[in-house]
Amino acid sequence: MRLFVAVTPPPEAVAELSSATEAVRAAHPRLRWTRPDQWHLTLAFLGTVGDEARAGLVDRLARAAALHPPMRLALTGAGRFGDRVLWTRVTGDVAALRGLAAAARVAATRVGIAVEERPYRPHLTLARGRDGADLRPVVDALAGFAGCTWTATQLHLVRSHLGAGPDRTSRYETLNSWPLTGS
Ligand code: ATP
Ligand code: MG
Repeated sequence: MRLFVAVTPPPEAVAELSSATEAVRAAHPRLRWTRPDQWHLTLAFLGTVGDEARAGLVDRLARAAALHPPMRLALTGAGRFGDRVLWTRVTGDVAALRGLAAAARVAATRVGIAVEERPYRPHLTLARGRDGADLRPVVDALAGFAGCTWTATQLHLVRSHLGAGPDRTSRYETLNSWPLTGS
């Protein structure tokens, strides 16, 4: 199954971002907007993982969560990866978030999952561009967004069902959640 490791913003942060992006979402209907109820910060994308590797992964992620503390985060402004991905930036205790992302990658590697070597860029994906999209005006329109600070208290292992949501979006299913209990 297709898996990733993530933390999620709490309902207040989702509601705030949802209303802050409502007008721009309506103004750019050709973009594939991600759904507020599915918003997350991907820490490690694992791709297809077999049942055996998953069992070992679950044990290791549980231990990683026990070793890492809750972290204070906020969502601010916007940026893009080319004209493919529009995102809002993660600010706050990004060093702790990076540490947790690194631990998730190590956990995956130890059970034989090949994790991409790309440097981790903390972000929350808001939309994906179809061919010929120009994300620059959308980034400009969201530049002034400054979200409240919230605390990430849990680590999640999430299954992705590609194209299984409304309008061909992917649907995510949380398989395991662990409290962050390190200090
Ligand atoms: P779709 O691929 O149909 O656009 P999606 O990207 O929401 O849907 P997945 O491709 O399963 O669904 O991705 C799950 C999560 O992992 C998303 O947050 C996605 O941005 C992230 N992700 C996917 N591929 C990679 C990758 N190669 N490197 C880093 N993160 C990735
Ligand atoms: Mg994808």
